[in-house]
Amino acid sequence: MTQAVRVRFAPSPTGPLHIGGLRTALYNYLFAKKHNGDFILRIEDTDQNRFVPGAEDYIVNALKWCNIPFDEGPGTEDKKGPYKQSERKELYKKAVQTLIQKGRAYYAFDSSESLEKHRVYHEEKGKTFIYNWHNRLKLENSLSLSKEEVQKRIDNGDRYVIRFLMVENGGVENFINSTDLIRGTIRVDLNLLDDKILFKSDGMPTYHLANVVDDHAMEISHVIRGEEWLPSLALHHQLYIAFEWKTPQFAHLPLLLKPTGKGKLSKRDGDKLGFPVFPLDWRDPETGKVSPGYKEAGYVPEAVVNFLALLGWNPGTEQEILTLSELIGLFSIEQVHKSGARFDPEKNKWFNQQHLQHIEESVLEEQLIKDAKAFDIVVSPEKAQKVVRLVKERASLLTELWGLSSYFFMDPEGYDAKAVRKQWKEGTPEVLTKFLTFLKSASLSEPSNFQAEFKTWIADESISFGQIMAPLRLCLVGKLSGADLFEIICFLGHKTVTSRIQKALQNI
Ligand code: GLU
Repeated sequence: MTQAVRVRFAPSPTGPLHIGGLRTALYNYLFAKKHNGDFILRIEDTDQNRFVPGAEDYIVNALKWCNIPFDEGPGTEDKKGPYKQSERKELYKKAVQTLIQKGRAYYAFDSSESLEKHRVYHEEKGKTFIYNWHNRLKLENSLSLSKEEVQKRIDNGDRYVIRFLMVENGGVENFINSTDLIRGTIRVDLNLLDDKILFKSDGMPTYHLANVVDDHAMEISHVIRGEEWLPSLALHHQLYIAFEWKTPQFAHLPLLLKPTGKGKLSKRDGDKLGFPVFPLDWRDPETGKVSPGYKEAGYVPEAVVNFLALLGWNPGTEQEILTLSELIGLFSIEQVHKSGARFDPEKNKWFNQQHLQHIEESVLEEQLIKDAKAFDIVVSPEKAQKVVRLVKERASLLTELWGLSSYFFMDPEGYDAKAVRKQWKEGTPEVLTKFLTFLKSASLSEPSNFQAEFKTWIADESISFGQIMAPLRLCLVGKLSGADLFEIICFLGHKTVTSRIQKALQNI
């Protein structure tokens, strides 16, 4: 029987979820769902110094907003939980004891001062100090000290860490070949690796130990994570071998690069160029500073997920606008790229504009109603529906809707000076006055009928389209952009159209 697919997203709650982390979560989700598997959220909170209050809730809420829910995780039924590493300490203690018994881990008592001395001494000689087979018998640990001395120190309460015995005796060839689903075989010389700390002196496991122990205990079949963990692959592979556990399959995802294509995408790039790098607004608990999120900036989750999915993966189709279920259907980890993916904020906006045309219109309507309220304007659901249909094509962000449609609900606050200079001619007031007379008897119940009536009228009056359309738009919208003018006139009705034209005639 083939192993059931179980993948996990394992963030550390050290701050808000960066867009790169969100993509890792998304690829895990797509892979799980493609293979009818489970997507697990595990909170890796063993580093108490870096713990940030609110970060865990933020991660959970961000996944929820993106519609990529986890099957198991904090707050779900405890199938293989608990799902927070701080609640699994006993497991790590037991695991490290197993390694000690197997002769693959040992106690080390070296103080940080003495390690620093070794480091400096090596540096002065142009060498790098690596704690491993080279020198471990010359350092203070349970391999170099007598059993009694070790016990004495432990009973004494001396500080110690527990280290992994990477290679027993160096010198002989000792390569390990690990397989990465995206990058193929990764060959590493174990003689060059250090005896990594598995257990810290504060009694907490390090990432390496806890991660491997949990992936095993949670029956993770595929470890899909960021490229920054590739250098740890050989160590993790070795840990599985030492425990005599089945090794999961690994895939290391490419980096997200700055819009320039050079270097890793950072929060600062977002601040500088004015685009969010977080899914939701994040308020720093210490400084109170708010970093903008996609949601609040007017992006819809459908677009964020679509855009992110294609950052580093190519489904090999012409079609770019894809729903979550289409993404699941097409996803293949082998097609994920090896090289970094350039983050293009303009393309991100384009995806959003495209998705705004396809999602439920009620989402857009609600946003419009909400934004109008800020101006003390009550927009009825019927009017919101009409207006959304007229303007949504021009909206890249949900938050742009109000700016694109405010003239449906309030008089223009001024008139675009450049447009006035160009379009407001000597004969304009006369043409508009004639229009006011025509308007009185025109029916505004149907834009297409009104348009036909209007065309007959201007032909009869020998008024050209150019003479009237731009000035009329200036009166009603205040600028030359906006929805179809006949739609606008029918929406506003006789009274408002008349008063806006009169106001413009007085003010321009
Ligand atoms: N806690 C690690 C991180 O936040 C998880 C890495 C992994 O997925 O193994 O990057």
